[in-house]
Amino acid sequence: MVNNAAMNLDPALLEIIVCPDCRGALAVDDAASELVCTGCGLAYPVRDDIPVLLVDEARATGRS
Ligand SMILES: [Zn+2]
Repeated sequence: MVNNAAMNLDPALLEIIVCPDCRGALAVDDAASELVCTGCGLAYPVRDDIPVLLVDEARATGRS
């Protein structure tokens, strides 16, 4: 089964979490199931609707 549903993230959680690397704000990317830092451009994966805010798990997007 393919699950293309948007992530179901808690808005209250999204307001308090920041990039662990640069403390920048995180933007939701539903298509990639990632949270993309608006500061340094790292993209953090979201697994089972839980953001994985670990720099070791993040993917560099080149955005900044
Ligand atoms: Zn960042």
